[in-house]
Amino acid sequence: MDTATHFTPILEQVLEEVRPLTLHGKVASYIPELSHIDRSKLGMALYLPDGGIYTAGDAHERFSIQSISKVFTLVMAYRTLGNALWERVGREPSGNPFNSLVQLETDKGVPRNPFINAGALVVTDILCSQYVNPHLAILEFIRQVSGVPDINFNTRVARSEAQHGFRNAAMANFIKSFGNLKAPVDNVLQAYFHQCSIEMSCAELVRAAQLLVHYGTAPGVSEALLTPSEVRRVASIMLTCGTYDAAGDFAFRIGLPAKSGVGGGILAVVPGRMALCVWSPALDVHGNSLAGAKALELFAGRTGFSIF
Ligand code: GLU
Repeated sequence: MDTATHFTPILEQVLEEVRPLTLHGKVASYIPELSHIDRSKLGMALYLPDGGIYTAGDAHERFSIQSISKVFTLVMAYRTLGNALWERVGREPSGNPFNSLVQLETDKGVPRNPFINAGALVVTDILCSQYVNPHLAILEFIRQVSGVPDINFNTRVARSEAQHGFRNAAMANFIKSFGNLKAPVDNVLQAYFHQCSIEMSCAELVRAAQLLVHYGTAPGVSEALLTPSEVRRVASIMLTCGTYDAAGDFAFRIGLPAKSGVGGGILAVVPGRMALCVWSPALDVHGNSLAGAKALELFAGRTGFSIF
């Protein structure tokens, strides 16, 4: 049996099994633009190192990638600062909700990891120091590594994030007070809200994740973006910090480095082996896609794709 005939039926079967779960959980409602999404959407895509992409369900429909963007900004900032990045942001799971401020005071403005909002704001600040238009640089980077030139922001989502982003604004100001944000707070927030508003499909996200699958190289990008050891480190942070305060449960059930977003997407990557993305908008109590997490669990169980 060739790979395509082997994997496509597994993806389709997994989606059918988890479909009843799309009736449960809650679609993100902190901004109106996300709350109107059809909760029955369900898609999945797999990328293998030989370049093969296998899809099922709504894998080609774009959705709000939200916090999945933090993987790409982390890669960009890591590329910019190298190991000096870890003086600005930690790499420990926070054990707290993604938008929590509580540890920032004791940690003197150095966020626990790059995937909680506080850490993502510091990462975006690093890009603000490097680029005149950081939000465009982020978009261009994602277009380049995915090879999809028409990926774009949803400007209504970006505007709405800004209108409702009181907590992110509080966090950015708090970090600034410790000196760990260099650019003007408004610039950092604008870039951050824009990166969250980028829309991509599961198929496009696994393409963009090629750079991690191929240990730092992406087709069409001439130089290596990260070293293999840096890629392993990004993946390790995805495993320990990528799924809000449920990363331990994810590692236990699924065994894949993953980053989720409140748009209902989850991107999982095993360097050298595969990238897998699922989208189902309704979320569990931690903010991870309910049906999406189950789909990853079933797929990992059936194919043996796990880092353990
Ligand atoms: N734009 C959201 C926020 O910053 C992103 C949330 C997420 O996907 O984790 O609150």
